[in-house]
Parts: sequence; structure tokens; C-alpha cells
Amino acid sequence: MPRLPPRPDLSWKEDGTPVDERVGDVYFSRHDGLEETRAVFLKGCGLPEAWADKAAFTVAELGFGTGLNFLALWQLWRANRPAGGHLHFVSFEGYPLDPEDAAKALGAWPELAPLTSWLVAQWPVRARGVQHVEWADEGISLTLHIGEIAETLPDAVFTADAWFLDGFSPAKNDAMWDDELWPMVAERSRMGAPVGTFTVAGGVRRGLVEAGFEVAKAPGHGRKRERLEARLIHRAPETSDRLGLRPLNVAPKTVHVLGAGIAGACCARAFLDRGCKVVVHDKAGGVASGASGNRLALVMPRLDAGDTVQARLLVDAYIAAQRAYGGLPGVEKVDVFQRPRDGREAERFAKLLADPPLGLERLEAIAGGGLLHKGAMVVRPALLIQSLMEGADLRFGAVPDQAAINALTDDPETVVIHCTGMAAAEMFDWLQLAGRLGQVDHFSDFDAPASALVSGTYAITSGPDRLWGATFEPHQAGDPIDVSEAARTENAEALETLAPYWMQAARRGEVSSRAGVRATTPDRLPLIGAIPDAAAFKEVFAGLSTGQWAEADAPLVPGQMLCGGFGSRGFTWGPWGAAILAAQAFGSPAPAGLKALSAVAPSRQLIRALKRGR
Ligand code: SAM
Repeated sequence: MPRLPPRPDLSWKEDGTPVDERVGDVYFSRHDGLEETRAVFLKGCGLPEAWADKAAFTVAELGFGTGLNFLALWQLWRANRPAGGHLHFVSFEGYPLDPEDAAKALGAWPELAPLTSWLVAQWPVRARGVQHVEWADEGISLTLHIGEIAETLPDAVFTADAWFLDGFSPAKNDAMWDDELWPMVAERSRMGAPVGTFTVAGGVRRGLVEAGFEVAKAPGHGRKRERLEARLIHRAPETSDRLGLRPLNVAPKTVHVLGAGIAGACCARAFLDRGCKVVVHDKAGGVASGASGNRLALVMPRLDAGDTVQARLLVDAYIAAQRAYGGLPGVEKVDVFQRPRDGREAERFAKLLADPPLGLERLEAIAGGGLLHKGAMVVRPALLIQSLMEGADLRFGAVPDQAAINALTDDPETVVIHCTGMAAAEMFDWLQLAGRLGQVDHFSDFDAPASALVSGTYAITSGPDRLWGATFEPHQAGDPIDVSEAARTENAEALETLAPYWMQAARRGEVSSRAGVRATTPDRLPLIGAIPDAAAFKEVFAGLSTGQWAEADAPLVPGQMLCGGFGSRGFTWGPWGAAILAAQAFGSPAPAGLKALSAVAPSRQLIRALKRGR
């Protein structure tokens, strides 16, 4: 299976109806598709009445297609949104359309035009994985799982209040209506959740009934005789949550974010967008005092050659960062030229380009070896962080200690998020964080357009600023965080190969240096999620030393979460991590798959230690 998801084999009927020739079926009827959506899915699921008294409501869909169902739902939501309510739409798509084709298809409905333009502007990137878009002012979010349904549905984490089943005709497309799907649909449904679909195919009815739904035929729309309505009446017991991925048992109203770096800023934004009061604390006198505080930072993808969980979540996080930062102050788009630093990297690049995870509009080969990352970003951290935190109450000079945190989280409507980089290790010594000292060097020159060169180290320009580095040296807690001549020499040598002209200019100018400590983990993945209660966790899962899992939920520290271990990719991890935490705190659909959530869960550090008998 190629890493890039396939496009549909799209054609257009004379009247403008889109057809996928692979299946031989239409996405919708151009004649009355919108009316059919309203009748089959919206009315079929009892909307808008079903969400009338709900603070949050989740609709799931099989088959995102052009997004017509989503927009029809959004239109209904706008007219019937409960005060402060949030609507989450989770959908699945294996053959994503290009945005131009979606715009063309949706053009049939001028009444949806404003929503169409918002959706098309945020149209999902063609990549396997999970993409999440929020329109905060509208109180609406879209979480799209891209890939074959047999792969994406088992990995999706959410509980639906209603379902739209819209995967082409079952007679023409059995993969989307496979018997194995129905138990997974039931598992991801709230008791009583309604299902709307246009098909009354026997297999679909039987599958739904066997999975715990009651089904009834209803009069169909237009020329169709019948459609189906179903409702979940029997639900299998939940399996245990050993990693601590379940929703926090809080109703977050106030969020205290510890740390005003990029992790803290992204968390502040995510919870502000959910309507929370957010207080950000930092022991320094201002924002971005630690590892996030360089004058410039580069947001570019790290692309692994193999199609692993890690490779996919790196792509997801990068796409999330691009989406989150686009248009904010201090952010410039840039094309990054990445040259292999050695033969091994050259081989890795060749393998990657032979089966790329991103399309040509984002990733191209450079003649002679190397990667061109289009649409990456150079950011000015201080400006970006300030703007992300707009609306938060900022308190500098101290962070709450353990006793103060416990007092805060005694309130069941308060969440505390640790975004303090290496300092998190002082409170949670089992996190296995290791510090790495990184130095960057900088000088000012004439104004130049943003540019970025990478080959192991990087050299970036924005306006008058030239910045290059960074070093990556072990750093022990308590050691000074100082710049050094040795690091400057190391950076200068790298710059000499990367950008010799700059190096000449740097010699003439005045070079300044800055050092910061990055918090890294043994597997180089971040720590994002609820915080396990280490002592209780070790007791419950003591059997892991002999390979035995207990059937139990992970014991958690009430009301506390972690977003860190970002290494030198803080600006990439930040928005993705924050969105995961907000979803877990509110119990809304996870903007990442189960495998990815498990790979970044803080509890993995305890599991690792227990398995090693520590
Ligand atoms: N709800 C859509 C809309 O509003 O435009 C129309 C959906 S269209 C009828 C069915 C969709 O299911 C197509 O976009 C198709 O690519 C997707 N699909 C079909 N088979 C699939 C599979 N096996 N895995 C994932 N998606 C699939």
C-alpha cells in the first residue's frame, strides 16, 4: 500500500454530479443532494432536537467525500447552536478529493457558499493519518481519519452521539460496509445513539442488529422507496484503559498552564478556544524564556523512510502546526532545502522519495540529492507565543508548587497542565527526561526574504536576522545553561558548509549566542496526556515485570496533564499535543489515532520501567 492515500477516480456527469469511477457510484445527486442529506442524515438522526440540551455533541460519518453532509450539518448547527455548545464531526475517508474538486462539487449549493469557502480553505492535506480542524468562533470541529476504513476505524478514539453512514452503495463498495465494522461502530457510540443511512441493504441491517442496534425502515427521500434508521440499544462493556487515555473526569472551566513556552502557549490557545478561563504561570519574567526563546525557529517536517506509527504521527503533528500557525503574527512561509548530511541520510531520502508520505505540492526531490519542503515555516517565537496566549491571564515570577497544584485540582472544574520542559522531571522523576543543551548563533544583516537550509544543522533567515545551529549536548540538572566558544565553533563549522557566504558576513558582523535546554525522552517522542499516579500505577501493574497486564484502568493524578518532552521540535509538537489534551480533558473526539496516543502517553515511561523490572 503506497503511503500517499489514493485519489478517487473522479469524473463528472453532464449535470455536474461527481462520480468515483473506481466504484461506479455518485457522491450525491446534484439535483437534490442537499435535500437528501437533510432527510436521510439530519432528520434521520433527529437533529437538531437531539443536541438541544447538550454542551457538546459528536456526529460521526463513514465517507467524508466532498464534505456536503458536514456543511449541511454545520448550516443546521449555526441556526440551532445551544449557547456555548460545541459540535464535533468525525469522519473517515480513504480517497481524499483535491480541494479544487471539492469546491467544484460544492459549488452546486450557493446557500452553503460561506461555509464551503471556510472548509475549502482548511481542506485536509493528502496524507494518511488524522487531521483536525477547529472553527473556534463557530464552536465546530472536524476530525478526519484518512486511510482505508479497515485501518482507520479500529484506531479512532471517540464516542458518537449520532452516525451518518454514507459510503457509496453497499452493492458497489463492500469494503465500506464490511460485517467487521459494525461492532466497532457500536463500541464508538453512546447508548441510544441514532444512525441514519440511505441504504436498507440486508447485510447492513443484520450487521447493525448483531452489533446492538435496533433498526427500522423509514420512507426514503425522493425516488428512493426506503431508508434506514437505527439506534444503539445494547452496548458491550468497555475494555480497560491501561494507558490512561480515557477522558478526564472533570468539567474543565479553569485551566492553569505551567510554563509560557510554545507547549504552554499552544495549550492556552486550545483551552481558550473551548471557552475556558486560562491562567499561564512562568517562573521567568516573561514568555519564551527557555528552550522556545530563540529569535527564530524553523517548523519543518521530520519524515521517516518507513511507514511506522511514529512516522505518521510526525506528519500529523507537522500538519497540525502548519494549520495552527498559518496567518499568525511572527510566522512566514518558507521552502526548506534539506541536503543529506551523509551517505546514510542520502539513502533514507531516496527511500522516502520513492514512496513519499506527502504529495508533490509539499515535498519534492532536489536535483543532486536532497528534499525540498514546500510551505514550511520560519517563526519568531516571542511574537507567536504572545499571540497564541491572547486572552489568557499571564502570571510571571513563580509557578505553583505541588501543594498549590493539589489545592487547585481539588476543584473538579480545574485542570493543571505541566508545560515546564525539564522542570517537569522535578515533580515526576519517572518521566525519564534528559536535558540537551542547544546553542544557536545569530547576527543581523540587510533585510532578506525568509529562507532555510538544513543539513543536520540549520541556517535560517528572516528580515535582518540570520540564525544557525543548533548544538545538542547532554546537560545535567543544576548545571549552568551557558553559551560556549566551543559550541560557537561547532556551529560555525557547520555553517561554513551550509552557507559559506553567510559565514563570511558573520565574520564581519557581531555574532551573539543563546543556549537553552531541551527536554528529551529515550524514544524521542513527546509526553502528551494525563499523568499517571506513579505509585498506584506501579502497584496495579506490578505483574508487568513478568509480562502480565492487569485488567485495570491506569490510576491517574486527578486533574493534571502533561505536554512536554518536545526535544528540539517544540514548535512542531505544540499544537498537536495541545489539541490532544483538550480533547481528553473534554472527552471529545481524539485528534489522533489510538496507536499515536499510546506512543506519546506519559504512562509509557512507567510501563517501560516496570517491564525492565525497575
Ligand atoms: N458524505 C459525502 C459527502 O457529503 O460528499 C459523500 C460520501 S461518498 C457517497 C462515499 C465516500 O466514502 C467517498 O468519498 C469514498 O471515497 C469513501 N470510501 C469508500 N470506500 C472507502 C473505504 N473502503 N475506506 C475509506 N473511505 C471509503
